[in-house]
Amino acid sequence: GNQQRVEVNILLLGAHNVGKSALTVRFLTRRFIGEYGDIESVYSRVETIDGQEICINIWDSQFTQVGEKSCCISDKQLQWADGMILVYDICNRSSFDVALQQLQQIRRSRKPSSVPVVIVANKRDLQRHRNVSSEEGRLLALSQRCGFFEVSAAETYHGVLLVFHRLVDLVRERRALR
Ligand code: GDP
Ligand code: MG
Repeated sequence: GNQQRVEVNILLLGAHNVGKSALTVRFLTRRFIGEYGDIESVYSRVETIDGQEICINIWDSQFTQVGEKSCCISDKQLQWADGMILVYDICNRSSFDVALQQLQQIRRSRKPSSVPVVIVANKRDLQRHRNVSSEEGRLLALSQRCGFFEVSAAETYHGVLLVFHRLVDLVRERRALR
């Protein structure tokens, strides 16, 4: 057809070790490899959704430093992103706090408040070690008008695929409104 290829830039956010790279690699390769270097990188995958070719660019970010500013999203990242996946680990309470901080930073930034954000509660396979209830995650998402998914990057590809597709849909819906 005569349709142009659409680009969608997705920024992965969340504390260190929550599974940002695991989710990214799952989406790109369908696999879980268990060990991921601390490499900050942008990956691309082209998909056909509703008959349209969409180039999905994924920025797998790193927030490894310790200290007050450790989880600050850079202006460059904020400018780049069309949508964000904000990840926390259901076993790690402080990663939920980081998610909250980053969400506040996004909402305070010059980015229009309608920038789509999907909150992902990862590692749902580790139920016995759960420290953040599903309810808390869902309420946060509801109050901030974000999408919400509980997934396990370790266990399933399908749930991870749904997260990325939901965000791509939200970005396209938002563009259609402009
Ligand atoms: P990042 O720092 O946010 O990129 O986190 P990584 O993707 O490197 O994951 C951190 C650790 O958690 C790694 O050892 C992963 O294998 C592990 N991990 C990631 N996702 C899951 C999950 O869904 N379940 C379990 N059990 N472990 C996970
Ligand atoms: Mg990583």
